[in-house]
Amino acid sequence: MPELPEAETIAAGLRKCLVGKKINKVVCRTKSLRRPLSQKKLNNDCKNTTITSVTRRGKAIIIELSNEKSIIIQLGMTGSCRLCPTKEKPRKHEHILFNLSGNKSWRYEDPRRFGMVESYSPNNKENLPIFLINVGPEPFSNDFSAKYLFNLTKKRKSKIKEILLNQKIVAGIGNIYASEILFRAKINPSRPANSLSLPDCRKLVKYTVIILQDAINAGGTTISDYKDVNGDEGKFTRELLVYGRAGEQCTKCKTIIVLTTIGGRSTFHCPKCQKLFT
Ligand SMILES: [Zn+2]
Repeated sequence: MPELPEAETIAAGLRKCLVGKKINKVVCRTKSLRRPLSQKKLNNDCKNTTITSVTRRGKAIIIELSNEKSIIIQLGMTGSCRLCPTKEKPRKHEHILFNLSGNKSWRYEDPRRFGMVESYSPNNKENLPIFLINVGPEPFSNDFSAKYLFNLTKKRKSKIKEILLNQKIVAGIGNIYASEILFRAKINPSRPANSLSLPDCRKLVKYTVIILQDAINAGGTTISDYKDVNGDEGKFTRELLVYGRAGEQCTKCKTIIVLTTIGGRSTFHCPKCQKLFT
């Protein structure tokens, strides 16, 4: 499932090819993704505009247009983007086609259709896409500090892994990177948030930044079907130290990595490196 590094990788790929291109037409080949799709609204908002920038917020990609509208792409479980010649026949799961100047087409593909693509007016704060409401700070921003995290965790009893996955607390971390961050910080995923010290929070912030940046540098992680705009898989997969490694030896201490479930999500940790009570 695409998290911040995968969204950043796709955004960087799109930025190179899309900025300065004009959108001639939008074609929706399905009536709904995560929510109903409106070809009419997408065309009204996007047709005959020029793409001015491509950025990212949390796990979402934001495309800004010359008419002060934007497009948000939430990749859901299996969303991806691709660029190709306009005349190329759409693939089965390419649900939205943005036909551009220069006979190019930018396509949104999503086999499981948990993602969403919608246009909106960023200046109309009352009517923002759900994804942009109450989103926490970006992990690379100064707002995501040890003190910020400590002030939030000290009031909460939920498990620390659930806190890292809460997009209202910090944007962009998903299931894969939460396990990796906690392993590198030597913190057990089940620890109650309010048991963390300020130094613990400092380690969490530090390794969040390191892991996410390393993953961006590697072009993200491919577990099942994530790929970038060129169709390449993420190379961080081989650098995962605990995620997906249940039953294997910990690279640090040779203890067997354990799989547990927290909040319904698969969670991997080393019981020796990440003791519940120290
Ligand atoms: Zn270990």
